[in-house]
Amino acid sequence: MNLIDVSTKLQTEDQCLDFIEKVRWPDGKIRCVRCGTDKVSRITRTVNPRIARSEKKQNKRTRLYACLEPTCKHRFTPTVGTLFHDSHLPLSKWFAAVALIVHAKKGMSAAQVQRHLGVNYRTAWYMGHRIRKAMASGEGIIGGGSGGSNSGPQVRKLSGTVEIDETYVGGKTIRKKERGNQKSYERKAAVVGMIERGGELRLRHVGKGSTTAAQVRPLLHELVDRNVDRVMTDESTIYPFAFDGYCASKHETIAHKYEYVRGDVHTNTLESAFSLFKRGVFGSFHRVSHKHLQRYLYEFEFRFNRRKAADLFEDTVANLVGTKPMEYKTLVS
Ligand SMILES: [Zn+2]
Repeated sequence: MNLIDVSTKLQTEDQCLDFIEKVRWPDGKIRCVRCGTDKVSRITRTVNPRIARSEKKQNKRTRLYACLEPTCKHRFTPTVGTLFHDSHLPLSKWFAAVALIVHAKKGMSAAQVQRHLGVNYRTAWYMGHRIRKAMASGEGIIGGGSGGSNSGPQVRKLSGTVEIDETYVGGKTIRKKERGNQKSYERKAAVVGMIERGGELRLRHVGKGSTTAAQVRPLLHELVDRNVDRVMTDESTIYPFAFDGYCASKHETIAHKYEYVRGDVHTNTLESAFSLFKRGVFGSFHRVSHKHLQRYLYEFEFRFNRRKAADLFEDTVANLVGTKPMEYKTLVS
């Protein structure tokens, strides 16, 4: 679904609830969230118009199901246990925010979401972070925030031809005479990138200042398949130490001092992903704190790895439906 589809087909609370049900129970059988039976019935309530009006005002989720299992008899709404459950915002605003964020190739700041949706800044910021977390959880990220039940399977390891490089983002620019001997990147966040040619991208925030072999080594083991065909890096001295036996025989380097491409040995695929990310970060976010950088990296990764996917919007909503809410106070603490 694109932005237009979302704004026309997901306008009312009913349309939104139908969509959530479709994503949550793809086979069309609504199941009890406690015992799992599909023997459930929808509770139709006849309320007097005065109460109905006040319920609408408060955006209460009005759709309710009852489990017919005699031992269970649980009552639930389609949003229970999902991110939308305790939100006071209309679902249509949530879906509009998802559509805006997933379709903005260069990312979308809270201020932009605020302007488009007419919500306050704090709400826009909060929605953005929850949506980003959902995007990240689809990648099978472990421990990406508090209480994520949807940590999923381990990240698939990269194979074929893999390019690895590091880049530095953010941080204040300081004039040379003020920083003395400190290198300009010492204040920046170090990001290690790995990309499979014709395949997926991984971006990991490893710390502040220059990258070390000790930071790269565990990422190699975690993200690169042992049976990879070739791994390409620049001539940086950290890589021979980082490989340390793991796929070391597959390692090829390009000396950027002298040349950028030697035959098919280069890291240009990764360089273009880096520059796309940086244009997004500096164009839309202005300043991303070190604390939140990894979430933005996951968001970028998610979108990049699904650049050919049929429906980014639906993928993201599916993750939102499967993600436990993250409290505002946990986020800002
Ligand atoms: Zn039940």
